[in-house]
Order: sequence, then C-alpha cells, then structure tokens
Amino acid sequence: MKMEVIAKYGKEQVAYVYLGKTSRGALVEFVESVQPPVPRKKKWVLIVSTMDGCPVGCKMCDAGGYYKRKLAKEEILEQILFLVNQRFDRHVPVEKFKIQFARVGEPALNDAVLDVLEELPTVLDAPGLLPSISTVAPFGRTEWFERLFEIKEKHYRGRFQMQFSIHSTDELQRDEIIPVKKWNFEEIARYGEKFVKEGDRKITLNFALASENIVNAGVIKKYFSPDKFLVKITPVNPTYKALENGLKSDVLGDGSLVKHARFVQELKDAGFEVIISVGELEENKIGSNCGQYIQRHLKSQFKISEGYDLVREN
Ligand code: SF4
Repeated sequence: MKMEVIAKYGKEQVAYVYLGKTSRGALVEFVESVQPPVPRKKKWVLIVSTMDGCPVGCKMCDAGGYYKRKLAKEEILEQILFLVNQRFDRHVPVEKFKIQFARVGEPALNDAVLDVLEELPTVLDAPGLLPSISTVAPFGRTEWFERLFEIKEKHYRGRFQMQFSIHSTDELQRDEIIPVKKWNFEEIARYGEKFVKEGDRKITLNFALASENIVNAGVIKKYFSPDKFLVKITPVNPTYKALENGLKSDVLGDGSLVKHARFVQELKDAGFEVIISVGELEENKIGSNCGQYIQRHLKSQFKISEGYDLVREN
C-alpha cells in the first residue's frame, strides 16, 4: 500500500492539505489539522476522502464537480496511514484523535468506509480514536446504516461522531441543495433514536447556513429529540460553487448570525444544544474545511483570491 504525495499545502500551526495519488491511481485530497492553541497531543484531526469526486453534487460543494469512482478500502487507509506514519508511527498518543470521513465523497455510498472502520482498531494503537461520519443520508442505504450501527456498538461505543448534513428544514429546498433522493426527517430521527445508546455522543444535525436557507425551529422540534440530537451551524465555505450559486453565509466571522439568530434561540429554548462553529479563518484560506477542493482551485481560470491562500511545500 503506498500513497504518492504530489503536493502539500498549508501551515504546521493550523492544517495541511495533501494532494496524493493512491496505489490504484486515484487523485485524492486529505487533510490533517490542529486547533491552536490546543497542542497536537491533545487534539489532532484527519479528514480523508472516500471517493474520487462525488456523484451527489451539493449546491455549495466543489467536490461534486465530477465523479469517477468509490475509493477502495486500501485507498482510504493509505490516506490515514500516510498521516499517522509521518507523525506517530502507528501508536497515536493523542487524547482526541478524530478521523473525519468527510473530505471528498459521500461516505454512506461506499461500503469500503465500513471496512475501514472495522479494521482501524487493529491497524492503529490509538486509544483516543474518534471516527466521524458526515452524511446526507442517501436513500437505499439502509443496510449500510445498519452495519454502521453494529460497528459503532462493537468498536466505538461513546467514541463515535455521527452527523447528518441537512442544511434546510424545508424538504423542497433541501432537495435543491442536496440533489439526490435521501431519507426524510422522520427516517433520520428514527435512525438516531436507535443509534444513540447510553454514553454515546449525540447525533449532529448540521446546517451549512446561507442566508437564503429556510430554517424553522418548529420542524426540528417536531421530529428530533434534544436528548439524542444537537444542532451545529457552520458557515458556507468560500467555495467556487458557493460563489457561482450566489450563496451568502449567514454566519459571520465572530459567530453571529445575519438572518437566523431567532432559529438558534428557539432551538436553545426548546433544550437543544446548538454549536456555532466558525473554524479558523486561516483554515478557510488553506482550504481544509469540508467541501473545499484544491483540485478545482488548481484547474480554475478564475481564482478566488481570498478563499485560498495556498502555501505550497513541495
Ligand atoms: S457535500 Fe459531500 S455529499 Fe455533497 S457533493 Fe460535497 S462531498 Fe458530495
């Protein structure tokens, strides 16, 4: 198994984005990041790709520009092992070692993601390992989600982060933003009720929140319980797609909201934990946030000057 790194962008103090070629010839992006001032030994986050391109094509995501194929188990592991080997040599003494299957690709469309999750505890000696799956909940993948639940129970009870990216509480608008057939809120809620057992982390409902998005706290309250779900609001990243589609982030740099402050307040009043996650400004520039895509940047004639300030290292 060998990953050939073609380029590395970023800064040691925040994040590196790698562009690599897998042993089977796919060009993939993967990321390692820290959260200053928290030292790497306390928290280290890897973000890996699960597909070569993505067939979903979300409105604000540069990864959906093309789709070739799902990555094999080895190709996903290669990304993880490349990063781990260069820092820790398989023994990862990091307190919170998060691996997010969230860079390029919809993980629930790829069975190999589950094989990786099954194998990780035998490949790595990492007591702080915390896998994280972000999914749009594609339709027809019930077996995948069932198996994920079993794997979580077997290996990661209390140490697994599950996120559904929903973006809008209006089903029609949600279909525009995420243009594939997917579970409705009732189905997501039913799964979450079963998934979260004693000691487990709550499931995250994520909104990459543009001012145009329709968000109604009543809908969240109707379907989801604050005992099992929390809400995370993230800015719409400065991607090419977001610019093309005229999407304006509702989340400002200081964490305040332009149009949707009431939504957050109503959720809090109803007992929901709400996280407004701004991330490092520096991280946006490097392009380590989810749904950004360096290859798109490299190919583009028109470059976003503010969005990506890439420091090439090799
Ligand atoms: S946000 Fe995720 S599912 Fe949507 S196009 Fe991008 S990679 Fe695919």
